[in-house]
Amino acid sequence: MTELTELPRLRVKWLRGSQNINYSRPSTFFSLGTRGSGKSSLLEAIAARYIKVIDLFGSKDSECLAWCKPESPFKKILFITGRNVTVASKWPTVCVDRLTLEDFEQNQIITTTYAFYNTTHEYFEGLQKITSLLWDQRTYWNEPWFILIREAANMIYARLQIVKDSDQAKADFIQMLREARHSGLAVGVDTIRWTNIDKEVRDVADYTFIKKTGAIGLPKDLRFIYRYVQPDSLMKMEPQNFVLLTIEGNLAMGKFDYPSWHKEERENILFKLDIDIERLGVEKEQGYNVSILEHVKIAESYKATMSMGKTAKQLNRAKSTVCEQIKLHNANINESGFCLECHKANNPIEKELLVRKGRGSLNDSC
Ligand SMILES: [Zn+2]
Repeated sequence: MTELTELPRLRVKWLRGSQNINYSRPSTFFSLGTRGSGKSSLLEAIAARYIKVIDLFGSKDSECLAWCKPESPFKKILFITGRNVTVASKWPTVCVDRLTLEDFEQNQIITTTYAFYNTTHEYFEGLQKITSLLWDQRTYWNEPWFILIREAANMIYARLQIVKDSDQAKADFIQMLREARHSGLAVGVDTIRWTNIDKEVRDVADYTFIKKTGAIGLPKDLRFIYRYVQPDSLMKMEPQNFVLLTIEGNLAMGKFDYPSWHKEERENILFKLDIDIERLGVEKEQGYNVSILEHVKIAESYKATMSMGKTAKQLNRAKSTVCEQIKLHNANINESGFCLECHKANNPIEKELLVRKGRGSLNDSC
């Protein structure tokens, strides 16, 4: 177990009822709040109180690798990678095809990221494999492990690889949160991109942390909290503060220290940690040489012009690059139902196929 003195402090002051936050149980933690409200750093501070952290469903660029930073209290780290990918770094790797529960036993942090796979399809397939291993095969346990779900959408997309129906995948996700405790899994859920399941997650969560709400304010069923906390202070809450509502109905105000290892927004973590990724047998045309922002610019410009030539001219890129990116975008959507590049950049066209009207096949002009 990590020494508590190394861990970010987390204090609460009860406003209604009182209880201890129990980190020795496989509890479910949910953190609610606007972008940049410090949700994911709060979940990291909680996760670090568990003996083992499995950080799988990241969204932002490899945020989950921050556990490797020298400031992190965890030293035994394992990367799960896709097939035909070599990840060269000072940390050991295991290919998802060979992963067993034993690998989890022997390490403190087990993580994987989109960057470790060849395609979005392989990434979500990998996530699905890891999830079933943890949920279905961990039938006997002594101590709970912490699963960090930074982006619930990724867990739902992983489930979609099996069930092919998004309502079913969402229902399965909620069911999996409910059943996690039977496999000794504590779970921390950060962003919910489908607001229609937000309430269902809250109903399952043992602890709901409410961070800065922004102008939207609290959902209807949580508005009773305004009797205890000023709407204004919730709206503008500082990242280190939170309101905690427990499943028993107890309510607290709290404060935590920002984990020293948390990834800064602009930090290039792969570069900083000297992690080198080589994709074997993958042609350059897969588009990995173009940044996410460039991908999004190309997709947007192409959507507006519906012309590879005009897009290339506008952005001063080769027409072949534009073509690769549009193909990648469409292939992503056909494989996974959405484009991960656009999704990471929060681009609304993440589910929109970019095809010229009246064309049978996709963008055959390049
Ligand atoms: Zn895209």
